[in-house]
Amino acid sequence: MTLSLQDMQRRVDAYIGQFQEGYFQPMTLVVRLVEELGELAREVNHEYGEKPKKPTELPGSIALELGDLLFVITCLANRLNIDLEAAFNQVMHKFETRDKDRWTRISKEE
Ligand SMILES: [Mg+2]
Repeated sequence: MTLSLQDMQRRVDAYIGQFQEGYFQPMTLVVRLVEELGELAREVNHEYGEKPKKPTELPGSIALELGDLLFVITCLANRLNIDLEAAFNQVMHKFETRDKDRWTRISKEE
């Protein structure tokens, strides 16, 4: 199934729209984002870092923590009426123009 950023924003909005509480305030959503970033950091540290899990800790998932981050980012965008697709396109345009010569290109002749 192909899912555009617009589809994602609509799906999250339909989900949140079922509840009287609605979206959290922007500041709360930023705190939620930091919480989820911490959870991602924890999983990455367990997998690639120097801090193994305790035997009593359940295995986690880097992929699911990235998914949590996407959900909260989408909530924040919806709460602020930001079109994520437009924002992403603007950011990619910046990388593709301003930063186009920043990194070493892979040579096609090798
Ligand atoms: Mg999480």
